[in-house]
Amino acid sequence: MQQIQDFFSQLNNPTQVVIVTHQKPDGDAMGSSLGLYHFLIQLGHQVQVISPTNWANFLDWMPAANKVLDFENNKEKAIQLIENANIIFCLDFNVLHRTKHVAPYLEKATCTKILIDHHQEPQTDTFNFGISNTAKSSTCEMVYDFIVDSGNADKINVAITTCLYTGAMTDTGSFRFPSTTASVHKMIAHFKEIGLQHTPIHEHIYDNFSENRLRFIGFVLSNRMEVLYEYNTAIMYVYKQDLQKYKIKTGDTEGLVNYLLTIEGIRFAAIVIDRDEERKWSFRSKGNFDVNTFARLHFEGGGHFNASGGRSDETVDSTVLKFKNVLKQYEQQLQ
Ligand code: 5GP
Ligand code: MN
Repeated sequence: MQQIQDFFSQLNNPTQVVIVTHQKPDGDAMGSSLGLYHFLIQLGHQVQVISPTNWANFLDWMPAANKVLDFENNKEKAIQLIENANIIFCLDFNVLHRTKHVAPYLEKATCTKILIDHHQEPQTDTFNFGISNTAKSSTCEMVYDFIVDSGNADKINVAITTCLYTGAMTDTGSFRFPSTTASVHKMIAHFKEIGLQHTPIHEHIYDNFSENRLRFIGFVLSNRMEVLYEYNTAIMYVYKQDLQKYKIKTGDTEGLVNYLLTIEGIRFAAIVIDRDEERKWSFRSKGNFDVNTFARLHFEGGGHFNASGGRSDETVDSTVLKFKNVLKQYEQQLQ
């Protein structure tokens, strides 16, 4: 993978561009993709954002979200776009399998592939150009750097600031995680000068749920939570029937795991959700417990030091049992 600066000169030749992000895109995945979209169209490129799957309704308000193609619903069109693309940007993931059924088509594509991402252990041989920086708060911040460093700061409009603010906000836990550096705050100050309205973004993302979802959270907190004080760990597990009973949709379970870290002394939090195709784990930690390595070693996953995800083909009960068994190895580290 060559450094991203070596690609800048190609930006001014309008061409067919595809932007791909990870499955079940979150605020940062969607925000960085759409932020880059609003930039590239100004340079005259033909740009299509492709999401491997659907996304949470609370992201639908984002400028041009209605133009994003859901691969699972538009397979033929999406494959054709990937085949015809001259440049494919890969945002907020660094290993192709994070794009689920899109992965084989990305693998086959022989055009220029560009990585912009902040997760650990990038598959760099997959990409022609790119930047991978785990110290960055969000892929949105990296797209901002990409625009500025390529000499195009004057192209940043309100649509771009809106998209990029969204991912910076969601990936930093509303600017509270240690990744919220001075450069994040400087970027936001720049966005405000351009005319960003930040309050509606917080409302769209955090105050936009159904009554059912709040009742579901109450149910899970009361009935599906265990605190393992001897490991300073708390877990939640959600069965398919719970999701069905409360009509839970994509995105409704996002953030649930963070409640566990609000318990005094808890340093490690985990939630497993019974999805159709797999049991999906989310891991969060405070301080020096490395959940990226934990997810990689035990649950076929990865991510960041303090926030990661993983998966299992087992039932909810047996993957929870496995989790509790594995936890014994970490008793000392979690003290
Ligand atoms: P979440 O728990 O919010 O789904 O994911 C937390 C972080 O871990 C995100 O940055 C996400 O991209 C990453 N992540 C989630 N699941 C996986 C996985 O299965 N593999 C890898 N490599 N990263 C994951
Ligand atoms: Mn991210």
